Amino acid sequence: MNAGEENQRRFGAPADAMVFARGVRKSFGPLEVLKGIDLVVPTGSVACIIGPSGSGKSTFLRCINHLEQISGGVLLVDGEFVGYDLRDGKLYEVKNSLLCKRRADIGMVFQSFNLFSHMTVMQNLIEAPTRVRGVPVQEARARAEALLARVGLSEKVNSYPRELSGGQQQRVAIARALAMNPKVLLFDEPTSALDPELVGEVLQVMRDLADSGMTMVVVTHEIGFAREVGDALIFMDQGVIVEQGLPRDMIADPQSPRTREFLSRVL
Ligand code: ADP
Ligand code: MG
Repeated sequence: MNAGEENQRRFGAPADAMVFARGVRKSFGPLEVLKGIDLVVPTGSVACIIGPSGSGKSTFLRCINHLEQISGGVLLVDGEFVGYDLRDGKLYEVKNSLLCKRRADIGMVFQSFNLFSHMTVMQNLIEAPTRVRGVPVQEARARAEALLARVGLSEKVNSYPRELSGGQQQRVAIARALAMNPKVLLFDEPTSALDPELVGEVLQVMRDLADSGMTMVVVTHEIGFAREVGDALIFMDQGVIVEQGLPRDMIADPQSPRTREFLSRVL
C-alpha cells in the first residue's frame, strides 16, 4: 500500500476518491467561510457546485488547489494531503517544494482567463511544463499543438491573448491547464465573464473533456451543463453543503427549501 492509499484508508475515503473532503473548515480571521465541508469526487467524475455569491465556492476550490490553507478537517487529493502533512500521527505544514509539486497536479481555470498577456498562445502553453516539470521544449511544443487542436484553436498558435475572443482565451486557458497533465481540473465560473454567444464553445470543450474521463470540479451557474454533464450536483450556501445528489433528481425535486429557492432564481 502506498502513502496515498494509506491516507485514504485512515480517513475512510473510498479507494477511487480523487478529491476527499471531511469537515473542511476555512476562516479568514473571525469570518468562518467554510463550516465543515464533506465531499467525495470519484476519479473520472464531474462534480458541479452551485450556490449564491459569497457561499464559499471559490474558497473551497482555492483550498483544493493549495491557494488557501485550510483551518480544519481533512482534505485529500488522490490520497495526498492538502494543507498539511501527516507524519507519525502528527500534522505538519507542507514544505514549499512539495507544495509546488502537488499544486502542479491540479489544474485550475478561472473566470477571468488569466493568460499571460505578453506571451503568445504557444508560450502560454509551454511555460509551466518546461519550467515546473522540466519537459524538453520540443516535447512541450508538440503536446501544446495537440492540445490546441483538441480545443479547436490550432490556427491561433502564434496569437497573443488580446487578439482572441473571450471564448477563445478561455479555451486556451483550458489547454494550458491540460498541458500540465493534471489529475483533476477545477473550474471557477469559467463562462461567467463571457458574452452569451461565446459560452457554448467553452462548455463544449468542457463536455469533451468530461467524456474523455477527466475528473472535474466545476463551479458554475450553467444549470443545463450541470444536468447533462455533471455526475453530482452540490448546492452550497453560507459555507455548508446544503444538498447534493444526482443533478437530474436535485433539479427536478430539490429536498431543501434553500435549494429550491436558489434553483427557482437561476433556472
Ligand atoms: P463564492 O465563490 O461562493 O462567491 P467566496 O469563496 O469567494 O464565495 O467567498 C466566501 C466569503 O469569504 C465571502 O464573504 C468573502 O468575502 C470571503 N473571503 C474570500 N476570500 C477572502 C480573503 N482572502 N480574506 C477575507 N475574506 C475572504
Ligand atoms: Mg466565487
